[in-house]
Amino acid sequence: MPAPHQPVEIREFPEPALEPGSMLLRTMLSEVCGTDVHLWHGRLAGVPYPIIPGHVSIGRVDKMRGPILAADGRAIREGDRIVFYDVHRTCGRCYACAVSGTPTKCASRKVYGITDSARDGLFGGWSEAIYLEPGVVSAVLPDSVSPEDYIGGGCGLITAVHAIDRAAIRLADRVLVQGTGAVGLCTIALARLSGASTIVAIGAPADRLDLARRMGATLTLDLDLSSEDTRRARVLDATGGRGVDVGIEAAGSPRAVEEGLTLICDGGRYVIAGHYTNAGASRINAHEHINRKHLEIRGCWGSEAGHFLRALTVLDMHAHAVPFRDIGARVYSLADINTALADAEAMRLPKALVDPARS
Ligand SMILES: [Zn+2]
Ligand SMILES: [Zn+2]
Repeated sequence: MPAPHQPVEIREFPEPALEPGSMLLRTMLSEVCGTDVHLWHGRLAGVPYPIIPGHVSIGRVDKMRGPILAADGRAIREGDRIVFYDVHRTCGRCYACAVSGTPTKCASRKVYGITDSARDGLFGGWSEAIYLEPGVVSAVLPDSVSPEDYIGGGCGLITAVHAIDRAAIRLADRVLVQGTGAVGLCTIALARLSGASTIVAIGAPADRLDLARRMGATLTLDLDLSSEDTRRARVLDATGGRGVDVGIEAAGSPRAVEEGLTLICDGGRYVIAGHYTNAGASRINAHEHINRKHLEIRGCWGSEAGHFLRALTVLDMHAHAVPFRDIGARVYSLADINTALADAEAMRLPKALVDPARS
């Protein structure tokens, strides 16, 4: 991706010399997510274009300069199917890391496919090979998990693990999920696994809502085909007139926040996970929507290595029963990458996958 608003180009890069503790992956699958659309529109600050997008990916170890240990302590071998936490170089000693408990805001932090420049090497998954530099948190994909399962969940699942932590769902809670993109769909599945009773999903279009029901939603409301009043009536009807205990915003829309706050019960909690970029202001009445409701509002930005590793455990335990793989609707070659990006932008499918080996 040479710059915002320009077609993605295919470029050749030299094979990197391996530093001790690094490895070269042969890419099996990567993805096109909402962040890539934001990158294409230049909506993220500080991106060192040109970049090789594809921040969550899976590859097979082609070459390595070991020994290298996976995050669980197991020795990595050539041929292993490797997945990795896209954030690296988090310093552990700055104010964000060591004091405020917000390592996702560390200034040294780099992210594969987003804030690593193509000038520095193969730091993204829309490429035949990915260079994992020393210190990247990696894991061997469990045998029970297919590449399609892993990348179907992809970055959305990792974000969803974080959002569920922030939501602190209790057994039998009634939960609202706004947005039926990859984050929303994964959040629905994790809310169900966390013991939620009623799970209301608001999103669009119809095929996403169908997938939302298969992920565990008990009530789906089509954003495009219903009024806000209708949706509110349906949510109150499904929750004994009180509203949901927990709302999770995964829509990235200021209007979603305005609506979500009206659908939560007194004493409830609201997690904002979808506003990864600045989508503008929401109109909130602090008395009516927060104070009088005794509402708790929590932000959720980025993810940490623990979310990535726990996402793997979730897949190991549940990918046979939860259709994470169905989020990845279609596989594209690098030659078709601009079509994949356009399809993702137009939300024609929940998620486009990239197989760089495909011709
Ligand atoms: Zn730091
Ligand atoms: Zn992503």
